[in-house]
Amino acid sequence: MQNLKILWLREDLRTEDNDAFINIAKNTEKFTVFYAYDELKFKFRSAQRWWLYKSLQKLEDKLSNAGISFKIFNSDPLTAIKVLAKKYTINQLYFNKHYEPKEKNTEIEIEKYLEKNQIEVKKYNGNLLQSPFDVKKKDGTPFQVFTPYWRNAEEQYIKKFNFSKKIPRFKGKKIINDNKKILEEIIKPKKKWYQKFEKYWQVGEDQAKLLLKKFINNSISNYSTNRDIPSNEGTSKLSPYLAFGEISVQYIFDECYKISKKNIGFRKYINEIGWREFAHHLLNHFPQMENGNLRKQFDNFKWVKDEKKLTKWKMGKTGYPIVDAGMRELYETGWMHNRVRMITASFLVKHLRINWIEGEKHFRDSLLDFNMPNNIAGWQWVAGCGADAAPYFRIFNPILQGEKFDSEGIYVKKWVKELNNIPKKFIHKPWELPKDIANKINFNLDRDYINPIVNHEEARQMALKAFADLKK
Ligand SMILES: Cc1cc2nc3c(=O)[nH]c(=O)nc-3n(C[C@H](O)[C@H](O)[C@H](O)COP(=O)(O)OP(=O)(O)OC[C@H]3O[C@@H](n4cnc5c(N)ncnc54)[C@H](O)[C@@H]3O)c2cc1C
Repeated sequence: MQNLKILWLREDLRTEDNDAFINIAKNTEKFTVFYAYDELKFKFRSAQRWWLYKSLQKLEDKLSNAGISFKIFNSDPLTAIKVLAKKYTINQLYFNKHYEPKEKNTEIEIEKYLEKNQIEVKKYNGNLLQSPFDVKKKDGTPFQVFTPYWRNAEEQYIKKFNFSKKIPRFKGKKIINDNKKILEEIIKPKKKWYQKFEKYWQVGEDQAKLLLKKFINNSISNYSTNRDIPSNEGTSKLSPYLAFGEISVQYIFDECYKISKKNIGFRKYINEIGWREFAHHLLNHFPQMENGNLRKQFDNFKWVKDEKKLTKWKMGKTGYPIVDAGMRELYETGWMHNRVRMITASFLVKHLRINWIEGEKHFRDSLLDFNMPNNIAGWQWVAGCGADAAPYFRIFNPILQGEKFDSEGIYVKKWVKELNNIPKKFIHKPWELPKDIANKINFNLDRDYINPIVNHEEARQMALKAFADLKK
């Protein structure tokens, strides 16, 4: 049997700036790369199956051209390793560590097997600037507040910062890696829903680097103001690429640090990268967050069970234009602007008082950029039950939020077409449209749009009371 080194890829689907990849390529010319498609993992991540399918296709092309063997398995990773071990004498396994509780457990399980079978393991840092366990308060406990966390984490990272662009040199001749069957029959989602995403996204590491370059050249300097306006293309839209590891966060950080004029836009952007690190820090130190509230007093909160309203929220039929626009943007593109994620999430947990877990599940299934730590931390921040979270009395007013961040109604009109003729004064509160104007533009709220499913002021008062009771 042949001696073989193998590389296990997960959410690090890139060839460049990938430490595990660089090191295996440095040590041997002949190695096998594998990906284990675990159906369970993607069962409730429908949108991401589309991205994964595309991403694996791109990677297969790249690896085939470079003469690297690439196998996609329809199993959990340990089973895949066992299958490879039956065929070859594996002497080394390379992988990038993945800082999520379930992934870490899988790594432990795999390492046990490797040790028993005398297979050497080579592990690297793959999807974060640094390990969540490297950043601690002076007393050794984990941070729970973002600002001091990031001050320390960023300073610490910069001190040992030795990132350099890493592009492996492949010498092999083109080969055929035939994963077509598994890609087409197992991974490619069956529903037609995903086809729309083709219009909005180009998957793959080359595109990720192009987007970053464009963002740094054109948008980062105005990021601090533009990032809050959902109708502007003011953010980097790198989140799905980061979720699948098509771009390295260290590369992003490094490229941003090269900017000579480090204005507030640069600072804000780097801080957002910091929020991503912080979410991973939290989930690694408090893994119980994955299944419930970080703040235990929220376990007693009396959430409302209302399937009808939950469905209306999911479908973008709440009658609040900015909420509906956000939910429709999500359904149409697999992505939603951050400001609108906060508004729609707040609407679900505060106006409807529906458990944030329901919202988290829906986002998980619909977002192309779903990332467990970011999604969990985002939802718990909005609900007020997480670390450094929004206080319970902060209830986003969907009308004022709309008027402030979409003052011309451009975003709402893009996604809620039935409001196209509403004058901007009423675009975020069409129920206040005076009768004479409504008649003139032939608009009837019940017929053409939706009567709000809750009254904002009443819902706000009820939420304030319910959340205040919790504090007692
Ligand atoms: C309820 C809720 C759920 C969320 N779920 C996810 C999720 O599943 N996956 C996800 O990547 N982000 C999530 N976010 C965070 C944020 O909305 C997205 O990261 C951002 O909108 C992605 O767009 P972008 O790449 O253009 O961001 P940019 O503004 O360009 O930011 C660059 C990168 O920084 C990181 N980032 C930005 N904002 C945040 C944040 N608030 N928290 C953590 N990291 C951040 C992301 O990796 C992002 O790609 C959620 C936020 C909320 C309020």
